[in-house]
Amino acid sequence: MHVTMIKKELADGSPCKKCLQAEEILRRRGLWEQIDEVIFAKEADPASPGMKLAAAHRVELAPFFLVKEGEREVVYTSVIELMREQLASPMSVAPPRPTNGHAAPQPSDDHPSEQDVAELNQRFATAEPVAVVDWVLSRYGESAAIAFSGAEDVAVIDMAASTGRRFSVFTLDTGRLHPETYRFIDRVRTHYGVKIELMFPDRVAVEELVRKKGLFSFYDDGHNECCGMRKVEPLHRALGGFRAWLSGQRRDQSPTRTNVELFELDRAHRGVTGPLLKANPLARTTLGDVWNYLRDRQAPTNELHDRGYVSIGCEPCTRASRPGEHERASRWWWEEATKRECGLHTAK
Ligand code: SF4
Repeated sequence: MHVTMIKKELADGSPCKKCLQAEEILRRRGLWEQIDEVIFAKEADPASPGMKLAAAHRVELAPFFLVKEGEREVVYTSVIELMREQLASPMSVAPPRPTNGHAAPQPSDDHPSEQDVAELNQRFATAEPVAVVDWVLSRYGESAAIAFSGAEDVAVIDMAASTGRRFSVFTLDTGRLHPETYRFIDRVRTHYGVKIELMFPDRVAVEELVRKKGLFSFYDDGHNECCGMRKVEPLHRALGGFRAWLSGQRRDQSPTRTNVELFELDRAHRGVTGPLLKANPLARTTLGDVWNYLRDRQAPTNELHDRGYVSIGCEPCTRASRPGEHERASRWWWEEATKRECGLHTAK
């Protein structure tokens, strides 16, 4: 097998950031040695070998990889997919490793205890968010799921991808999202080369509600009933297949999130073997921190942010933020601030 990495050199001669990130992932996972050849695609020179290969394989993304085995040649535009399908063995057998000096206790079995969680919070008290993500994935791998919906969750996915470890991602398709959000979900999928499991609400329950109360009952009697069907129940179902999950919650996001811990024991949902370990790696960060991170990493974002939206949920229940307004004020704005939660994170 011969593996070639095609890296991009930008028109001004600088390296492409995503190519550097991909190389960093491979090096951190000890897989760099398995890349046999690196070829440059120079943006300013269409005749450069890499540009010719990109044209020949009709690839527009950088970096990409060519894996040749005999006559068979496979193109990968995602380093994660490459590792999974071609370099999977070293990844899957890699033992959990200390994260930036934060060697953490291993929960004794699949049921983390309150004591395990307290110890984790202590050990990671000063750790960077990526160290928290790395530890969770080193312990749980694909049994840990990232619940994806907004900008914060992309930061968590980006951190997870940067570790080179295996992980799962799901999102709740309530059926009431903005078209921009659907495009955003798909951009995240292609950008990171990850599978995103879409969880849909129970059709019978939603049909019954709409038949009885119409499509906008939440404006009259609150959002709990609709959110319960379109978000809470599908989340419960999704988490049934995992042992741990990661959320993008921040403490400063709303009055209901001020006590969010880095690690929590989630007894409100039942995972494969019981209560789940829930990690909130961004708990101590601010909205500004998250956006600085996303810009720095050139991560995909929802185009609605460019039109003044900060916190984005379903279309009928989200409006653009007004100047000086708290970010959550634009969600369920007709209800009291302390009730502006969809129920996904309310029960610890
Ligand atoms: S945010 Fe609005 S539309 Fe979406 S599930 Fe909740 S109440 Fe229903």
